[in-house]
Amino acid sequence: MIKPRKTVQKMQPYFVNDRPCRIKLDANEGSSYLLDSIDGPQMIESLAGNGSFRANLYPDSDCVSLREKLAQYYSCKKENIVIGNGSSELIHFVISTYCEPGDRVLTFSPGFSMYDIYCQLCEAEIVKLESGKDFEQNIDSLIEKARETDPKVVILCNPNNPTGYVNSREDVIRLVEALPSTVIAVDEAYADFGDQSVVSEIENFSNLVVLRTMSKAFGLANLRVGCAVACEAVASDIWKVKVPYNLNGPSQILAELALENSERIEPYIRQVNEEREKLIAAVNAQSYPDTAAATSEVTASAAEAAAVQADGRPFLRAYPSGANFVLIESPDIDLEDALLERGIAIRSFGGSLAGFYRISIGEPDQNQEVIKAIREIKNSEERRRGYDNRQTNPGR
Ligand code: PMP
Repeated sequence: MIKPRKTVQKMQPYFVNDRPCRIKLDANEGSSYLLDSIDGPQMIESLAGNGSFRANLYPDSDCVSLREKLAQYYSCKKENIVIGNGSSELIHFVISTYCEPGDRVLTFSPGFSMYDIYCQLCEAEIVKLESGKDFEQNIDSLIEKARETDPKVVILCNPNNPTGYVNSREDVIRLVEALPSTVIAVDEAYADFGDQSVVSEIENFSNLVVLRTMSKAFGLANLRVGCAVACEAVASDIWKVKVPYNLNGPSQILAELALENSERIEPYIRQVNEEREKLIAAVNAQSYPDTAAATSEVTASAAEAAAVQADGRPFLRAYPSGANFVLIESPDIDLEDALLERGIAIRSFGGSLAGFYRISIGEPDQNQEVIKAIREIKNSEERRRGYDNRQTNPGR
């Protein structure tokens, strides 16, 4: 048996293990609204009618037309853009462009798991700075850690996956300015959901690379369209590690069609942001009744009942988020199993995030089902603990 190289011997294959479910909220995919809103004949015309797609010919390796449209969208030149098969591929490209084996890559923890995998593949050492107790990220501490550890690349995921934490663009620019000899890769996979992007800064800094994707707000995860946006010199260095023909023709054509209709993402983004805040509020409203008060006989009025509710220990805790998902802490029950029993798939974590779950924001009716299911799960947990929902009975 021929052994793979030492680095690969230590790695585990990555399986996604999709489980059958009714409502899929485990991978932060956007809704299919954008291509659904474009009529079929227009789509067929784009794919087959105008002669640009021929299954027997290789696609445009340089993605010229798609880069022109993305350049318009990001107010830059097509020379600033490198296309990836998803922005995941670009994380790999950035690390392999800059890191020799043994070089360091600095990032916050918890963070996006693919950073570890690409560092392993490039034999770069990943150094992680712990976020604060509520997952806040301190940019000054990151700068200090960079001065201590001298990384080749800093990856800042903003908004962060899986915590949802958002750094202000001023803080991100301060990071880029403070470390002029380090490549700062800002992973903005979820930046469309807020207004803190630094993509407009690429011409001002020769150490800034911004990674964007059409998998989230554009709802095109299946097409695998991502891009790196950077000043021309950086973009052309990253291009050296790009493999030819990395994005297939139908994906290029459909992504262009989506970009021609990019104004349609605005109402969707507003909807996701509103729905996210509703989910956070509904989750944080679920607390256990205070045990002592709930068992006393004097909980007389609805106002007192509300106070008891507010004093209770949280059943679940939702963290603030600027993305299309919410991180939820569930110390008492396995939320993933409990929701999957009701047909809803969410994402769980291990290690230091054991007991935390990430729920993507779906369509409004799906989010309502999640909220209803969470209330049911809490009520059955209360019954199991013998609380018996006493605080809702004003007669006692
Ligand atoms: N960065 C982050 C932070 C992500 O969460 C994801 C997808 N989950 C990606 C990059 C990769 O997205 P894609 O490859 O679909 O563009």
